[in-house]
Amino acid sequence: MSKILCKCGNMMAVHTMEEDFLYDLIPQKALMDIVGKWKNIRADIYPDSLTNLYNQFRKDVYICPVCNRLLIESDEDPNLFDSYVKEAK
Ligand SMILES: [Zn+2]
Repeated sequence: MSKILCKCGNMMAVHTMEEDFLYDLIPQKALMDIVGKWKNIRADIYPDSLTNLYNQFRKDVYICPVCNRLLIESDEDPNLFDSYVKEAK
C-alpha cells in the first residue's frame, strides 16, 4: 500500500489501485509505441509483457479530492511527488 500526503493535509492511501484519486501519466508517444507493439505482445507467452512495457513509461499521479492539486511522480526520485495547483483565471 502506498500513501501520499497532499499539501492541503489530505492523506491519500492506495488499497485497491482503483481509488478515484489515482491516475497514470504516460507520454502519448510512449502509449502509441505500446499499442504498436501489442500485436507482438499478444503472441508472447508471458502475459505481463504489456504491463512491463507500460510501466517503463508511466508515472503515478494523484488528484487530491479535497483541493484538486495534482501530485505527479518526480523525474528525479519516484518516491517524491511534484505538486501542481490550477492557475486562477
Ligand atoms: Zn489536497
